[in-house]
Amino acid sequence: MNQSRRTFLKVGSAALAMIPVTVIAAKNEGLRTAMKYVDNGPEADKHCVNCLHFVPGATPDAQGGCKLFAGDTEIAPKGTCTAFAKKP
Ligand code: SF4
Repeated sequence: MNQSRRTFLKVGSAALAMIPVTVIAAKNEGLRTAMKYVDNGPEADKHCVNCLHFVPGATPDAQGGCKLFAGDTEIAPKGTCTAFAKKP
């Protein structure tokens, strides 16, 4: 490997290491509206945490995702919507 290519790879690796790894929070407003999503559902047995489509966050109280709400990372465990489907 020649010197310039080696230098290029070293600089490129260093630059990549400096990119912060962050999860960008996002909401799928269109689906939230269409499915009448709310952060605090009135019926505990119909909360997202009990739904087949819920993707849990890092802790039990953390926001997670929903398999139906593409790109939405702010689904509350106590949220709910019209597509609720109880876990088996
Ligand atoms: S389908 Fe609705 S109730 Fe189920 S996890 Fe997604 S947002 Fe929550």
